Amino acid sequence: MPRRSLESQHFQVVVIGGGLSGVAIARECARAGRRTLLLEQNDFGSAASSHCSRTIHGGWRFLEGGEIGLVRDCLRERQKLLRERPHLVRPQQFLFALPEGGRRSAMSARTSLWLYRRMPGATLQVHSDRSDYNKLERLLDPARRWSILDYEDAQCEFPERLLAEWLREAVAAGAEVRNHTQVLAVDVRQGRARGILLRDQFSGKEERVEALWTINATGAWAERLCQRSGINRKTPLLHGVREAHIVLPKFSGAPNSAVVAETSEGRAFSVVPWNEQLLVGTTAVSDRGDPARAAASPEEIESLLGGLRRLFPQTRLSRRDVRYAYAAIRALPPGSAKDDEAHSYRLQDHEEDGAANLLSVVGGDLVLAMQLGREVATHIGVPGRRGSAGPAESGVAPQLDRWTVEVAEALGLSESAAQSLVEWHGGRSGEIARLALSSPALRAPLCQHTRHMVAEAVESLQHECALTLADALLRRVPVTLASCWSAECSRQASARVATVMGWNSEQAAQELETLETERAALLVKPSQFSALEAAAD
Ligand SMILES: Cc1cc2nc3c(=O)[nH]c(=O)nc-3n(C[C@H](O)[C@H](O)[C@H](O)COP(=O)(O)OP(=O)(O)OC[C@H]3O[C@@H](n4cnc5c(N)ncnc54)[C@H](O)[C@@H]3O)c2cc1C
Repeated sequence: MPRRSLESQHFQVVVIGGGLSGVAIARECARAGRRTLLLEQNDFGSAASSHCSRTIHGGWRFLEGGEIGLVRDCLRERQKLLRERPHLVRPQQFLFALPEGGRRSAMSARTSLWLYRRMPGATLQVHSDRSDYNKLERLLDPARRWSILDYEDAQCEFPERLLAEWLREAVAAGAEVRNHTQVLAVDVRQGRARGILLRDQFSGKEERVEALWTINATGAWAERLCQRSGINRKTPLLHGVREAHIVLPKFSGAPNSAVVAETSEGRAFSVVPWNEQLLVGTTAVSDRGDPARAAASPEEIESLLGGLRRLFPQTRLSRRDVRYAYAAIRALPPGSAKDDEAHSYRLQDHEEDGAANLLSVVGGDLVLAMQLGREVATHIGVPGRRGSAGPAESGVAPQLDRWTVEVAEALGLSESAAQSLVEWHGGRSGEIARLALSSPALRAPLCQHTRHMVAEAVESLQHECALTLADALLRRVPVTLASCWSAECSRQASARVATVMGWNSEQAAQELETLETERAALLVKPSQFSALEAAAD
């Protein structure tokens, strides 16, 4: 469908990059009443924001670097997310396994945790499972002596959904948002950024837009955008580090808690229950290449498996067990070597580079994305909002239960089926349930293995800025990330969605092809690793 022309329109704020940072900034500015435009070259959330470790950390490990302010920020923002998005952000038990003679002493980690627990918001209500502790003890390498420390943190299994909700709120507040729209360059004249030149990726049409302020929130692409815009800096804007994950089935005896250990270089190595599978990460490889081509190398996959085997020698996991791998480039402020620096962000005003009113955002974390949005808004003179839209803390659990019961009753579903709807759509589940009730085609599951319904995908195409089936099924209703998803599931889902959307056979085939191409590029399967090796030779 052709999109409304933006040619020569004037916006108070143009945000480039539709990851969680860009969406948080656009939402903040739109809510403060600024005429805001958000542009994303692919789909919203298609880069680092959906390729991350999915932890909403309170940052206790930063205490060892004396970063009390950063820990306070993480804890405050984590509390807000837990309160405002209880369906998406949940407390999770973590077990930190430290070998005797390792880089970090158990004593210093214990001291940091002791201090941390005394900070406001540090302790969370998590069901602490002693049997998990015993399970982990049995799994760890018996040739070493281990200390196991437990702490509570939080997980957002699907940041894709968090982003979809913020995006919706940005639009409701008046933001104009465009995915599949690339910014070719920032228009810099007489020492000031005056707007941007964009290209619609579907039609190829180019348009110019004027802006009072331009925010470069393109993550790992930030330096490239500056260069394309003729902004020549004396020092680099960022340092790119590729981080890879592998996804494996849960093996027998795996704890339900997330397990964190350390690599020989002192980086965190985590094995986290995710989406009924295990998410293992990460590597860290300096990468100056095109962020769009970031992929886990065979060596990185081997190194993650090696880390897993060293931690749990009896499990004998091999490449054949890897369901898929994914990687992304983390944009770090240059010179950041320590873990705590890697998680904080920097705002770079380009006035001294000859481009006033252009601000680049470098680095950041899921947990600090809302704070980043507020800080950018303040920097460009947009007044902050007061208060929080979220429910009171004590009301969170009953509220989730209430939504679940309402949906179960409306659709005649079991509570567990209703729960899967609530877990992704929170307070909007009732609306989706009503849509599903309007026809059997909408109420049908997307494929035979999932409880998620055609109505959810249709809703995302109609109201969550998903423009393609791939946008819908990879990032708004991310059923394709489940362990059982196959090419046959994609075919079924595509046919069912096409019927409701009224796509003709040509369009349906095109949508399916794009979905499968994107799915293969995002989730690299073991069978593709040897092809990757051959290509690398
Ligand atoms: C491997 C990895 C693991 C991580 N794990 C965690 C974690 O566990 N917990 C945590 O809190 N944080 C984690 N992070 C950090 C977190 O993912 C990010 O801070 C967060 O997602 C915000 O990302 P972003 O919006 O800055 O970047 P991105 O999500 O990469 O968004 C930038 C967007 O800009 C778009 N873009 C680029 N150029 C243009 C252009 N010219 N025109 C239009 N659009 C453009 C890109 O397509 C992209 O979608 C991790 C990051 C990585 C890479």
